[in-house]
Amino acid sequence: MQIKVPFLDLKAAHSPLRAEFDRVIGEVIDASAFAGGPFVAKFEEAFAKFCGAEEAIGVGNGTDALWFALLASGVGPGDEVITTPSTFMATAEAISYCGARPVFVDTDPRTHNLDPSQLEAAITSRTKAVIPVHLFGQPADLDPILEIAQRHKLFVIEDACQAHGAEYKGRRVGAIADAGCFSFYPGKNLGAFGEAGAVVTNRPELAAKIRTLRDHGQRKKYEHDMIGWNGRMDGIQAAVLSVKLPHLEAGNALRRKHACRYDAGLRDVPGVIIPETVDYALHVYHIYAMRVKNRDEVMRRLTDQGVGCGVHYPIPIHLQEAYRDLGKSAGSFPHAEISAQEFVSLPMYPELSDLQIDWVIEAVKQSVAAI
Ligand SMILES: *Cc1c(COP(=O)(O)O)cnc(C)c1O
Repeated sequence: MQIKVPFLDLKAAHSPLRAEFDRVIGEVIDASAFAGGPFVAKFEEAFAKFCGAEEAIGVGNGTDALWFALLASGVGPGDEVITTPSTFMATAEAISYCGARPVFVDTDPRTHNLDPSQLEAAITSRTKAVIPVHLFGQPADLDPILEIAQRHKLFVIEDACQAHGAEYKGRRVGAIADAGCFSFYPGKNLGAFGEAGAVVTNRPELAAKIRTLRDHGQRKKYEHDMIGWNGRMDGIQAAVLSVKLPHLEAGNALRRKHACRYDAGLRDVPGVIIPETVDYALHVYHIYAMRVKNRDEVMRRLTDQGVGCGVHYPIPIHLQEAYRDLGKSAGSFPHAEISAQEFVSLPMYPELSDLQIDWVIEAVKQSVAAI
């Protein structure tokens, strides 16, 4: 008998909380508090506390969060912002939407996060900020990045869109640097019932500016101090997120447990490289990405055995058509390019059963052996 293991199973995550969702969505309807408002304020307070941050500002999505954090840091036309090519497109898009230019630094092959030893060489007189991405839920090595940034007077904005609750040296990510950006896209470790995001920060001046930016630049109704945007979080998303937030830590712990089981089952399989975790990190495994040669063939075989899988991400940002103008050819960032060719993301969510994980492990073994 074949066991089905979907790549993601949001129904399984939501069904135990279904009555609570119905109740809080009803409360939002009764209060007609749809755009911003008290449900958003309540979630902001809870999420700031969760992250150990002074403030959280709810916005429309993770891309808004990155864009507003950069704008509030004063990033604009002519500036350069450093990040890695191993990320989701949004990290670079947010830089471009400020009128600035993304500049890439290759990844550390162990963590697939920005390699701090290559950061300084990428800094120019135009560099304004650095965005380390906590890819797959494992924090980037922030201390050396912050040290270099401080010396060059650069803002550091964490892209924590995959790392809700992850820790760097015992501290939750997000407010370790100047600001941290989160996405609550449904598939993230903390996911809404639609689009939502947040910026967390300990810097009151950044928080105030982001609050203004997300609401058309108005501090008072119809009095616009600056040109902003419509980037508010909506009330239903905030209410849903407030229900889900208390379950995030337990979900992350289950993800770590599942990752251990995958590691144990796949560690000695020839042709498979399991993801590496580093000592300073508490990983939250938004994605469990192994590496294999002949990736597409392995994925076809996994799919045939009922195992959902994905690739995060098949094309590094500097090789995307949209960024052709940057003039970066293949070979510019070898670590990011090799991992893009070899990554396969396996099913990873708290609700996975051991039986399902063992099925995935067997399917991987068979798929790799058959090639
Ligand atoms: C999901 C994600 C984003 C964008 O978040 P949205 O809510 O989809 O806009 C940005 N960066 C990374 C690394 C992400 O994974």
